Amino acid sequence: MPQIEPMQPIARRGLMLVISSPSGAGKSTIARNLLEDKSLAMSLSISVTTRERRPSEIDSVHYHFITKRQFEQMRDADQLLEWAEVHGNFYATPREPVEYAMSRGQDMLFDIDWQGAAQMREKIPADVVSVFILPPRMAELTARLKRRAENTEADIARRLTNARSEIQQWTEYDYIIINDDLNRAFAEVRSIVIAERLRRDRRPGLFDFVTGLLEENVGA
Ligand code: 5GP
Repeated sequence: MPQIEPMQPIARRGLMLVISSPSGAGKSTIARNLLEDKSLAMSLSISVTTRERRPSEIDSVHYHFITKRQFEQMRDADQLLEWAEVHGNFYATPREPVEYAMSRGQDMLFDIDWQGAAQMREKIPADVVSVFILPPRMAELTARLKRRAENTEADIARRLTNARSEIQQWTEYDYIIINDDLNRAFAEVRSIVIAERLRRDRRPGLFDFVTGLLEENVGA
């Protein structure tokens, strides 16, 4: 009988899943579903922002809420992987947690706008997978923003105006999801994560695995 060695865990590069969409296209719900799906074991990159906290938000869970001065200090000390001004506020991804997660092969989810996605693609092209979520109709965005009830009238108007220029960035993304059914949209994003994890170039440890496979003595 051939001796079967226990299989070594196959090393894999961490995946950086960037999800963008105009406000109200359902991105936050899809992101939450991805994080709650334990089988995917993804962690969220918690951004810093100078925007005011909404009543439903928790500091250090949804965002790290910071002042403009703190933001400028972090930016000048090169502590931000990317940053952008969105709807009149600053948003940014702190560098250190991302580098730590990547070094451990941990997949991360980034809920960031197109400007941030472009910076990430440029800095780390091999690890970034980008997904853009579109609403089925523009009217759907208005309805969702109004339902949310946490935005002021002025903020809703600004987000709707910005939605048009954000949508025009769709051609920069690897995958496009039309969110006319939340369950299906989530299933589609989930399948992107699963397929991207299986990419050969993301699995350097496969080389040893296949070498071992070919060395296995099975007789005949
Ligand atoms: P909200 O104010 O609705 O939470 O977010 C507004 C927009 O800012 C969303 O499109 C969100 O994806 C984006 N955003 C959140 N965090 C970041 C970040 O760290 N960097 C960038 N570039 N955009 C972000």
